[in-house]
Amino acid sequence: MAPVIAPVRTSPDHPSSTTVVVIGGGIIGLTAALTLAERGIPVVVLEKGRIAGEQSSRNLGWIRKMGREKLDVPLSLASDRLWTEMPQRVGADVGYRQAGIMYIARTEAEMAVHQAWTRSVDGLSLDSRLLSASEVDHLVPGGEGRWAGGIYTASDGRAEPTLASSAIASAAIARGAVIVEDCAVRVLSLSAGKVSGVVTERGEIRCEHVLLAGGLWSRRFLGNLGVSLPTLPLVASVLRTAAMEGPTEIAVGAPDFSFRKRQDGGFTITQRGALYAPLMLDHLLIGRRYLSTLRAQWKNVRISLGRAFLNDISLARRWNASAVSPFERVRTMDPPVNEALNAEAMRNLVKAWPVFKNAVVTQAWAGMIDVTPDSLPVISPVAKVPGLTVASGFSGHGFGTSPAAGQLAADLVCGQTPIVDPSPYRLERL
Ligand SMILES: Cc1cc2nc3c(=O)[nH]c(=O)nc-3n(C[C@H](O)[C@H](O)[C@H](O)COP(=O)(O)OP(=O)(O)OC[C@H]3O[C@@H](n4cnc5c(N)ncnc54)[C@H](O)[C@@H]3O)c2cc1C
Repeated sequence: MAPVIAPVRTSPDHPSSTTVVVIGGGIIGLTAALTLAERGIPVVVLEKGRIAGEQSSRNLGWIRKMGREKLDVPLSLASDRLWTEMPQRVGADVGYRQAGIMYIARTEAEMAVHQAWTRSVDGLSLDSRLLSASEVDHLVPGGEGRWAGGIYTASDGRAEPTLASSAIASAAIARGAVIVEDCAVRVLSLSAGKVSGVVTERGEIRCEHVLLAGGLWSRRFLGNLGVSLPTLPLVASVLRTAAMEGPTEIAVGAPDFSFRKRQDGGFTITQRGALYAPLMLDHLLIGRRYLSTLRAQWKNVRISLGRAFLNDISLARRWNASAVSPFERVRTMDPPVNEALNAEAMRNLVKAWPVFKNAVVTQAWAGMIDVTPDSLPVISPVAKVPGLTVASGFSGHGFGTSPAAGQLAADLVCGQTPIVDPSPYRLERL
């Protein structure tokens, strides 16, 4: 069962014109809409299913700088500032806590990866530091694992995915944004080659700009326009426990499990060392672009061929404004939970921190992630379609950077000074 987000009073229908249409009511589209509404720019968010019904409610809630590409660190630093201000900005507690994040290593080879990352971000003044095995034991007591050491960033943290998107959506609505659920955008309207509106399943909206924040659907939407956005789907399964005494407030990522404390007193747990890829047509079409990542991660990848392939090929890759689009056929992507991976995560965790043998599992879910070949998102104008900007491909770590990523997308839409240098995120790099 997927996580349920706090309710939002969305609009029953959309107006016939606005300045900006945002396609997708995930956390990226919503933070962009909040930023635009705060700037007094009329904005309409169209969501084919439910606000944050896909990745944005299903993620682990980690907010980290640690482990990011050097190029991606400025976006995460800007996001930390915005997360800190978020409760005041949206008038609600979104569960943001700088409780720290730790990665632990079982082998010297894994430690070497952390050391190399620390060197790669030298000069950025991050508070990440390498840990000895005894420092790991001290920071996360009660463990029985044998660790080579770890890496720890005290200023990293977490927020609650089920609170954040709805609080951001409600704040955007309070500032004048219109948000409509169950309303898929089928195609763009173009005049003289430029964006002049969108056609939804309920009719047309005229607008000057469109921001495509459609998560894993953005590739299909752009494909229909003849624009290639290389993203591949991966599925992660997650479980949560009832409230319990745990070893720490720090979110801990080991090679084959992770856990983080939740605001409700339970823990969110996953098998961090396994990338599950239910084979789809795109894996065959663009999979070779991921070969270098695959080589490094090969032992962590679990590929399966099954129903997902058939579901995927039954969805259209080309359609027009009068046809029911793939977005109406799949209101919410709700992949099946990989019970075996969840059981593996729990077993590995209990071995390392036996206190978790008392954990009562109360919920399990899965989420489908849109991954680019270099694991950086695309936040970029689409040169081929003037008036269209895309913000997608967050590769499994877009919740943490969403406040600044959404703002950057809004900056690009309105031609304002960008919150960070947008060049690492341009579409043309791919
Ligand atoms: C299990 C899991 C764990 C994760 N853990 C973390 C983590 O700990 N930290 C972190 O930073 N990130 C994490 N992530 C990644 C993070 O959740 C995503 O990067 C982020 O939520 C992406 O937000 P989004 O708005 O781009 O996409 P989404 O939340 O997927 O939203 C896109 C929305 O667009 C809508 N849409 C698409 N096409 C159309 C259309 N044509 N018309 C109307 N609506 C449309 C979809 O219905 C969807 O609701 C995790 C993801 C998963 C699945």
